[in-house]
Amino acid sequence: MGHVPFVIAVHGGAGTMSPDPAIEAPYHFALKAALAAGAAVLESGGAALDAVQAAVVSLEDCPLFNAGRGSVYTADARHEMDAAVMDGQRLAAGAVACVHGVRNPVALARSVLEASGHVLMVGEGAQCFAQQMGLAMEPEAYFHTDERLAELRRVQQQRKPAGMQAPPQESGHFGTVGAVALDAGGHLAAAVSTGGLTAKRAGRVGDSAVIGAGIYANDLSCAVVATGTGEHFIRTAAAHDVHARMAYRGQTLQEAAPDVVFGELLRIGGRGGLIAVDARGEVSMPFNTSGMYRGVQRQGEAACTAIFQDEAPGR
Ligand code: ASP
Repeated sequence: MGHVPFVIAVHGGAGTMSPDPAIEAPYHFALKAALAAGAAVLESGGAALDAVQAAVVSLEDCPLFNAGRGSVYTADARHEMDAAVMDGQRLAAGAVACVHGVRNPVALARSVLEASGHVLMVGEGAQCFAQQMGLAMEPEAYFHTDERLAELRRVQQQRKPAGMQAPPQESGHFGTVGAVALDAGGHLAAAVSTGGLTAKRAGRVGDSAVIGAGIYANDLSCAVVATGTGEHFIRTAAAHDVHARMAYRGQTLQEAAPDVVFGELLRIGGRGGLIAVDARGEVSMPFNTSGMYRGVQRQGEAACTAIFQDEAPGR
């Protein structure tokens, strides 16, 4: 395949949010930094898989987002993180669930892809593997933010009258981070990382660690990562559904991605969105919430970032 113009897109979660320029500025800044980290890889001829990993590492290291450093708290006030990567050329994938203390869960997911012989590793075994691979570990304090702990207490207070059956964080802000990219060689890749949902039960695994639900990539169609109420994305195999609509039904990306976000997913109560790029460099970023932190960078163009429905880019 000849040289094609690269494109990278990132998201920092969807949810209920209202415009406030003072609060928004640092999000735009962080999204641009993530795009720059990924674009630097692509600019030097690097692979889409390395680019999406670099972008997600940048977002994991930023406490604004619910991934890595800024991960939300479980019901028992701990952190359990999920992450995954997928390479559209090899259909190779790596994912981890319920890990803690790992500075960059996306790097661990990449190690699972490259070096474990498996696709999905969880809990203590995944953590031992992180240590064997020499990945950076951090103490609990690194992952603490006052805002996230206050959010946990607030959610627990609200859920008391409804009892423990109330779904965690039904309407709120989902701050999972993700990236999708098309590289100069025409290959697609996706990466995602999350702390999950505030007040989730210990041991709960969300869509971000489930290949086909919160993430999918195939050079024949597109690369996709999702954010939102993970259980619904698992139940609808949302990310794979975008691929399947393109591959089997002949839909374009601009048809398939919104159909998934506003179709069955929404009908069963799923809230959130996804970002996707196809093999021709088209980008789609539909969401069924009031906002989604997102951004796109195309080769030779300035990066654009947006939060609300009526803003560009790439919807
Ligand atoms: N989808 C993630 C999960 O359910 C949450 C998020 O998008 O913030 O774990």
